[in-house]
Amino acid sequence: MPYRSLNAWSLHEEGVVVVYGLLCSYDWWLDPGHVTPPSGDTPHGGFWGCNSGAIYKSRQVFDLSIGQRRDIVSWNVMIAAYGMHGFGTEALKLFKHMTVDEGTRPNHVTFTNLLSACSHSGLITEGCDLFDLMKQEYALEPDMEQYACMVDLMARSGQLSETLEFIEKMPFEANAAIWGSLLGACRIHLNLEMAEHAARFLFELEPESSGNYILLANIYSSLGRWEDASRIRCLMKERGVTKSPGCSWIEVGRKVYSFVVGDTSHPFMDQISAKMQSLYTKIKEKGYVPDTKFVLQNMEEAEKEMILYGHSEKLALAFGLISTSGSSLRIIKNLRVCGDCHSAMKYISAVEKKEIIMRDNYRFHHFVDGVCSCGDYW
Ligand SMILES: [Zn+2]
Ligand SMILES: [Zn+2]
Repeated sequence: MPYRSLNAWSLHEEGVVVVYGLLCSYDWWLDPGHVTPPSGDTPHGGFWGCNSGAIYKSRQVFDLSIGQRRDIVSWNVMIAAYGMHGFGTEALKLFKHMTVDEGTRPNHVTFTNLLSACSHSGLITEGCDLFDLMKQEYALEPDMEQYACMVDLMARSGQLSETLEFIEKMPFEANAAIWGSLLGACRIHLNLEMAEHAARFLFELEPESSGNYILLANIYSSLGRWEDASRIRCLMKERGVTKSPGCSWIEVGRKVYSFVVGDTSHPFMDQISAKMQSLYTKIKEKGYVPDTKFVLQNMEEAEKEMILYGHSEKLALAFGLISTSGSSLRIIKNLRVCGDCHSAMKYISAVEKKEIIMRDNYRFHHFVDGVCSCGDYW
């Protein structure tokens, strides 16, 4: 499930904390629900100051706040920040420190953040234990948020039948977030039967949301069922549902540049294409294989590869690489990153020796030396 804004998590609670101030000053970058940068291609400063180091800096500031104004809000925000960046184990360690060493009582928000952190790091056993702990140790009855996190955690780990059983036994009707998590997991684990089941509920609950149609069509395409994929696209058209085009943003020299999927109009397009070609040659030598199942149309493999080249995050990355010699690049994507771009980014981080931090509308990905912080689990 997508992360909620840190603001939304925290404003209803009392207390102002140092770490909260630090994180929220970069709220636009941190909030995956917030997909458009503040000022397009115009110069600005500040927002992008929150780089990968921000999580470490936040922790330093958090540690300095001992005995001052550290309350449940600051614990919760720090745990959420770890979770969003894929540091699930750190989130759990902090929770232990909070409860065992400092005797702070967790609340519902703490458990939502912890379960999300477990989900985004694939920590299934730990997540299930926390769900029990919440009820047994702290007498907190889980609400929809924690149930949604559990569904996400279980489904992502591939326990799809168990997840469906869990949903059916919930004390309330599942909402769109819950069915959406199951559908998302069906894409990862290519379970068509379950995907169709989840999609039936989603098409009823949120008929206007393009993401559900795309996910289901994607699963059909991955299985070579082109007619079914095209049927879903027709259904979208009939219902007047439009898909927002993939768009990515990158900052170079204190200016933000935007790239739309398949865009060939950028003034540096020739250099970007040349860089892409040389990157593809290099990463293919290292073992990268284009994952053409992320192309929804039925066409020749070579044509599919060309479509994959045009994904906005790849264009943004190639532009970043030719424009700056810095050791890290930060990209924002308005939609969930596709599996092919994710794989390419890993290889590129290794061959170019750059840290690539991407925030899509679900989470952060830190690509370093061929590995992503999400552990390929998003
Ligand atoms: Zn892609
Ligand atoms: Zn990742």
